[in-house]
Amino acid sequence: MLSWYAAHGRHDLPWQTEPNAYRVWVSEIMLQQTQVATVIPYYERFMAQFPDVDALAAAPMDAVLHLWSGLGYYARARNLHKTAIRVSRDFGGVFPDGVEALQALPGIGLSTAGAIVSLAYDRPATILDGNVKRVLTRYHAIAGWPGKSAVAKRLWQLAGAAACTQRPAAYTQAIMDLGATVCTRRQPGCDRCPLQPGCRAAMLSCAEDFPTPRPKRARPTRHQGVIVARRDDGAVLLERRPDAGVWGGLWSFPELGPDDAAAAWSEARLGARPMRVERLAAVNHTFTHFDLVLEPVLIAVAPAAVMDRPDWLWYKLGSNSNQAVGLPAPVRTLLDSTNTEANS
Ligand code: SF4
Repeated sequence: MLSWYAAHGRHDLPWQTEPNAYRVWVSEIMLQQTQVATVIPYYERFMAQFPDVDALAAAPMDAVLHLWSGLGYYARARNLHKTAIRVSRDFGGVFPDGVEALQALPGIGLSTAGAIVSLAYDRPATILDGNVKRVLTRYHAIAGWPGKSAVAKRLWQLAGAAACTQRPAAYTQAIMDLGATVCTRRQPGCDRCPLQPGCRAAMLSCAEDFPTPRPKRARPTRHQGVIVARRDDGAVLLERRPDAGVWGGLWSFPELGPDDAAAAWSEARLGARPMRVERLAAVNHTFTHFDLVLEPVLIAVAPAAVMDRPDWLWYKLGSNSNQAVGLPAPVRTLLDSTNTEANS
């Protein structure tokens, strides 16, 4: 596999140039649940603004969430910031080089810790990310959803046994690359795979049967009314969401209860009746466990009627200056369409 990696692996991903624990860590967190091609521009913007862990630790959370906007799974960004503060404050800006110490930091699991130790410090450590699970379940024909603890335990054993102790960084990158580019989810390239001679799934011509998918669950749909309060000067009201829960710490539209009327909301929260009320087109968004339908109601309000609170932001449409805050993708979509409508 190391020969295959030397000839066919990926060697020029942005986090592979000058690899250090900080760069590997940020890339690993971004790559959780997100494709490489999507991550690259986010990663480059992030590194330009926060070139090292001390810079990230010193940044306000809003600036971190702003650069994360659109990547989703925002708990990752919040934990990234918390860990940066811990590493900067408690470890003098140097990441620990052991799996156990790394795992004690927010948002760093066993596999991410293994990736940092092996890729950044070139020390033996085991990883088990989605790509590695796919390769191992196929190579050994392991049935059962890898999220089940018995299957996960078996896979960790196999991953540990397969890891190369002489060249840990090259091996880790090799198995990740093999999973990403050859042993792909659909139509794996078994005929060009260095593992083919010993691969049980390839022998049985059933590679795509592995890994066993997660058992299906019904996906609920949640409907949520939101208020798009727009002032004459084009500013729209956003509210900071609580730190815990969906879109924690990001800015979104104020929510409207199922029995609340927009005009009454305006009177209660802004102290004035709206000049206009209009239903806007719904915006759909998919989360891992449910579908969200945002049902926006636009209210036009006069600047004089506007009240202010610390967790409110009057977001200027069409201008991002001084507004480096985290916005979930559907909120950004709705802001863009509100801006277009206001200009038409
Ligand atoms: S032989 Fe095919 S199924 Fe087996 S590890 Fe290689 S690409 Fe994956």
